[in-house]
Amino acid sequence: MDLAVYVHFPWCLQRCPYCDFATEAINPARIPHARYADAVVRELGLRLAALPPGARARTLFFGGGTPSLWEPDALGRVIAAVAARGELDEVTVECNPTSLDDERCARWKAAGVDRVSIGVQSLRDEHLRYLGRLHDADGAARAVRTAVRSGGLRVSADVMFGLAEQSVEALTEDLGALLGDGVEHLSCYALTIEPGTRFGELARKGRLPRLEDDRVATMYEAVERACEGAGLSHYEVSNYARPGATSRHNEAYWRGEWYLGLGAGAVGCAPTPEDGRAGERWRNDADAGAYCERLEQGALPPGETEAVGPEVRVREGLMLGLRTAAGVDLARLAGRTGVDPRAGREAAVAREVARGNLVDEGARWSIPRSRWLVADDVVARVF
Ligand code: SF4
Repeated sequence: MDLAVYVHFPWCLQRCPYCDFATEAINPARIPHARYADAVVRELGLRLAALPPGARARTLFFGGGTPSLWEPDALGRVIAAVAARGELDEVTVECNPTSLDDERCARWKAAGVDRVSIGVQSLRDEHLRYLGRLHDADGAARAVRTAVRSGGLRVSADVMFGLAEQSVEALTEDLGALLGDGVEHLSCYALTIEPGTRFGELARKGRLPRLEDDRVATMYEAVERACEGAGLSHYEVSNYARPGATSRHNEAYWRGEWYLGLGAGAVGCAPTPEDGRAGERWRNDADAGAYCERLEQGALPPGETEAVGPEVRVREGLMLGLRTAAGVDLARLAGRTGVDPRAGREAAVAREVARGNLVDEGARWSIPRSRWLVADDVVARVF
């Protein structure tokens, strides 16, 4: 059984006003680099011991937070521990432009990292200020060029659209510049306003400048045109890649495979030893101190767990798979879960096919690209 391993690094230099991830702003001098790495390695051992035999790690993704702040030797110890429990064919580190330089790239590569995902967001100072980011446009461009120049790292960039006063022209110019600098994968997300964030509070009071929804939709289409025009494939609703440059780790999620989430604030979902088709999802508490303490005592970290039965796995497989160009392989999903995804969905699927929202090839369901803007609604109706 192949596993996608996710390691959460729960610290950032500063909290961005739109972010609702499990992360805490910290002075980097206070990050317990080695202690946190020890705890993650301990959690890896405990989680693997509870799995059916034969589980092996295939991809590793450091997300956060800002894992590029993690001291490379400590991060490297985690890579070595995961690599010893599988056969890794992709190791990604999420980076912010403020913590990516030549030395870090060299040390990451020596530790086994082969892909970086850089939180560029925009190449315009005014947009980065609006987003409350610490880097500026020059810093973002410099970080991308540094990663590309280092060689041996596949470089992805995150870009946001739907920002106040952002134009289609500025957005497509940014994408062109990133691709011209050697980025081979782009994750492009519309700004979403989450409750409980500073942007959420401002929006509630009507004090957050926003773009209208139809202009955001126009930008989504412009992103697609720019990326496809440059030779990237639109392989998931928000993701574009040059040939061979897709995110293998995320593809495992989207196929509905098991994933081992490690670290404070991480979420994982893995099978139970008794029945490989049902599993358990866990969500570790975000408190990194409590996380380390509990693992130092030899126990799993505090958090919540829930049973994930076969029908839930089918629904999640549909929800994620229908957001990809490949769609959902129905036999594969049935094989994984023991449940036929078609059962009970015949009428809903026929309705969506008749509306042109779904393609039913018999062995596979997919949403045509022209309907990806409403993919979440289509998924909800066949859920
Ligand atoms: S750097 Fe990323 S994870 Fe950290 S606060 Fe900003 S958006 Fe959130």
